[in-house]
Amino acid sequence: MDARKVEKVLTAAGEPKFRLKQALDAVYKGNLSTWAEASTLPAPLRERLDKEAPVLALAAHRVLVSEDGRAHKAALRLGDGCLVEAVLLKPKPVDDWSVCVSTQVGCAMGCTFCATGLMGLRRNLTAEEIQDQVLFWRGYLKSHRLEGRVSNVVYMGMGEPFHNYANVADSLRALLDPERVGLSARHVSVSTVGIVPGIEKFGDDFPTVNLALSLHAANDSLREKIVPANRAYDTGMLKEALKMYLKKTGRKVFIEYVLLAGENDRLRDAFALGKFVHACGRPDLLHVNLIAWNPTATKHTAPEQDHPRKFKEALEGLGVSVTVRRNLGTDIQGACGQLITRLPPPRVGAPRREGPKTTRPAAEPRAGRENRKRPGGGRFRPLS
Ligand code: SF4
Repeated sequence: MDARKVEKVLTAAGEPKFRLKQALDAVYKGNLSTWAEASTLPAPLRERLDKEAPVLALAAHRVLVSEDGRAHKAALRLGDGCLVEAVLLKPKPVDDWSVCVSTQVGCAMGCTFCATGLMGLRRNLTAEEIQDQVLFWRGYLKSHRLEGRVSNVVYMGMGEPFHNYANVADSLRALLDPERVGLSARHVSVSTVGIVPGIEKFGDDFPTVNLALSLHAANDSLREKIVPANRAYDTGMLKEALKMYLKKTGRKVFIEYVLLAGENDRLRDAFALGKFVHACGRPDLLHVNLIAWNPTATKHTAPEQDHPRKFKEALEGLGVSVTVRRNLGTDIQGACGQLITRLPPPRVGAPRREGPKTTRPAAEPRAGRENRKRPGGGRFRPLS
């Protein structure tokens, strides 16, 4: 929702000043998805708002639900017809839900293990489109009578947040504003592949929001193969940026590390990672999240089941704080690195170094009956 658009409509309609707060409260506190549900507003005004300043700048194209019910993935259609995916997750069996938002349609970074990277970049999302993914899932919880509330938001969906910094920053302001979405900064995390100017600016602008760095390899020759952005911002620059960030904010930083069998999961890779963590000056403030690679149409392999634990133990032996992250939503292609909404077009944006050869990703699943069983698991729930 764009509050400025709402204000314009109210002014044009000659509504009294108090109406704006009433309208915004109806959406932010009442978790509405359309103005038609806003019973506190006069009916003709609701109709006008729905036409001229709709609550959501996006609409559900389809929603998949994982077998265990703890992951819901939506393909959301934007005003220009583009699709992005956003995910609702329940990482713990309490009533707190996390929303994973996208910041771009596709991504220019081309990380070789990631389905979104296969799409290339189509466009940035607006602040409204980013914020509305959270509003969408809040309305979804309400309309599907699911217990609990959205208490965490992670910027780890499609796109590189710091490649769309201004809109990401505006959306963060909306999420953190107590008069709007009102999330606690401690429960919001932004992940970057390592755009150094973005890390620096983020430390100044949002020192209480969590930062995650998608590292995936701690030496340059290996990281360049997996994360092409490393050619612009190498591990030496990342260490310096993290040092400054830690000094400035005193906040914990999460290091995300996708384990790719035989590529970055060897003992020497654990040593390089341990060295990287210590070189940032505050190993007590860095926490490594290990993620076993989730299947995508890229040429990698997941490590054997027990391997992440062994890698974790090697890191612990080096004095590194580390967790193996449980993957939710793999059966609906909603886990880390699996989001994709169309076949790859010619690339635009940042150049990409040739990585391992890729095969065609699977085409979008077609709409079907509600809760129909899908071959990959998960229930299919078309919403519109
Ligand atoms: S991992 Fe993130 S930054 Fe890399 S290609 Fe995928 S979406 Fe982009």
